[in-house]
Amino acid sequence: MRWSERQRGMLQAMGVRLFEPPAASALAAPESTAPVAVLRGRSAPPAAPAAPAAGASPPAAAIVPLRPEIGNLDWPALRDAVAACQACALGQSRQQTVFGVGNPRAHWMIVGEAPGEQEDHLGEPFVGPAGRLLDNMLRALGLTRGEAPPERQVFIANTLKCRPPRNRNPDPAETAQCAPFLARQIALVQPRLILAMGRFAAQALLASDEPLGRLRGRIHQYRGVPVVVTYHPAYLLRTLADKARAWEDLCLAATVVEGGSGA
Ligand code: URA
Repeated sequence: MRWSERQRGMLQAMGVRLFEPPAASALAAPESTAPVAVLRGRSAPPAAPAAPAAGASPPAAAIVPLRPEIGNLDWPALRDAVAACQACALGQSRQQTVFGVGNPRAHWMIVGEAPGEQEDHLGEPFVGPAGRLLDNMLRALGLTRGEAPPERQVFIANTLKCRPPRNRNPDPAETAQCAPFLARQIALVQPRLILAMGRFAAQALLASDEPLGRLRGRIHQYRGVPVVVTYHPAYLLRTLADKARAWEDLCLAATVVEGGSGA
């Protein structure tokens, strides 16, 4: 990717040093960096779940496929199913579900964690301070959540469609119940790249319990879609020093989208 003077100025103002993306040939995802995706098994008939060993807690993403019927829904039916969902207790505490926004054929799909207070109130993902940082990051890449063609307008979704009370961490059972919705959104959008923001999004998509630091810097796969992992914008608001690393992640993602590598 080549950065315009305006983008360079903006990034410098953010305190972000420019990262030269690696050559496209260096990005071909080796098999070993392609963890089994959480929902990968959903396109095939679900296998019978292996019972976890007594006392063992499987990673959220490894929990067996639920609600396979969601895999056949079109956009309006999926939206209605999310709005009506009462599959976990969050259905009782939410003000409203937060489905996601953006271009239904976006090249870039952004996946966050869960709605916070403002998102729960407004019904749109990433509308608080973290969302403003996300919008700035997108702008620096020439992307937007507003109306634009699929190469410029992203689709933003969360791992959970309902706000956990007091913004607590998602619980594995909630993640498992909500996962079919995200899987169907990804299948409908067919993005060229998924940018997983934060540990929960990354671990849920990749069926991994590796720490975020180990998941960054590689191209993973989710059902054949390249996945790049980066920090959550809320974390970046607290940890300015990692903005430069986040920028490196975005450059890696941009290279995948533009070069078509990593798939
Ligand atoms: N954090 C997220 O992960 N998603 C949102 O929608 C808002 C904050």
